[in-house]
Amino acid sequence: MEVETFRFQVDGITPESLRVKTFRLRPGQAGMPFRFSPGQHMGVRPIDTENARGGNDQRWRHFSLSSSPSEPDFLEITVLRQGTASDRIHSLSEGDWVEVTRPEGTFVLDDAVRYGPVFFGGGIGMAPIRSMVRYCLDQGLGRALTLFASFSSPEEALFKDELKKWGDLTPGFSVWLTYTGTQSAQEGRSGPSHPWDRAYLEEHIVKPLDRVYYLCAPRGLMDTVESQLASMGIPPERIRSERW
Ligand SMILES: Cc1cc2nc3c(=O)[nH]c(=O)nc-3n(C[C@H](O)[C@H](O)[C@H](O)COP(=O)(O)OP(=O)(O)OC[C@H]3O[C@@H](n4cnc5c(N)ncnc54)[C@H](O)[C@@H]3O)c2cc1C
Repeated sequence: MEVETFRFQVDGITPESLRVKTFRLRPGQAGMPFRFSPGQHMGVRPIDTENARGGNDQRWRHFSLSSSPSEPDFLEITVLRQGTASDRIHSLSEGDWVEVTRPEGTFVLDDAVRYGPVFFGGGIGMAPIRSMVRYCLDQGLGRALTLFASFSSPEEALFKDELKKWGDLTPGFSVWLTYTGTQSAQEGRSGPSHPWDRAYLEEHIVKPLDRVYYLCAPRGLMDTVESQLASMGIPPERIRSERW
């Protein structure tokens, strides 16, 4: 069966860190050709241009939408440079074209959002979490949110300006940052600046049994968080996660 595809033009590129860039994409036709839910992902591949290096590799790769449906005029994807396809996307310039597939995936905000979501985003896993948080804020749900974000160092933190603004400007919305590398080494300690262990989570999550949890992070970190939440008595049906 032929996959339905849509043309989008690169309209802005934001370097987030040394190996991560956010690409803003505008539809090639009037209006957005589809709807999506925060947390979903889509197939992306560059349409050959002089800039898009990578030879004949035309494989699709899936990327989470890091923008929110409440930002209706464009889409954004946030890409970690780590291999053939992501390298090719990193070589795109403004004005270049990509084709994308219709967004899909079941890691989405659902009715459970009324329980006051707690988000965990680690590294590039912050991409779908950024979409979810932004959507909740735009829906006026900021007072009930908690976000834990983990990066290897402050230099590697994604969406830095927004994370700071969200924490500073949204009463009741707490943002807790952890750095797993450089910072703690500088402080003469080994291990994360704030390990996501049971004590730390219980200290920062108000009424943990009444909340719903959304996780996207490297696999090892997700396993850790899931086991900590289980030890706190959080039932599995309250935990949503996406593993790439
Ligand atoms: C649902 C979903 C959502 C996703 N969302 C995002 C997102 O928002 N942002 C994002 O950046 N990615 C996302 N991904 C991952 C993305 O789809 C790609 O898998 C990723 O970009 C790597 O593709 P690549 O072609 O660049 O790397 P590949 O060339 O496929 O390489 C993948 C990894 O294998 C290693 N590798 C490759 N060849 C070798 C070798 N010979 N020996 C040893 N190691 C090797 C590479 O170093 C790299 O770490 C998502 C994936 C899924 C399934």
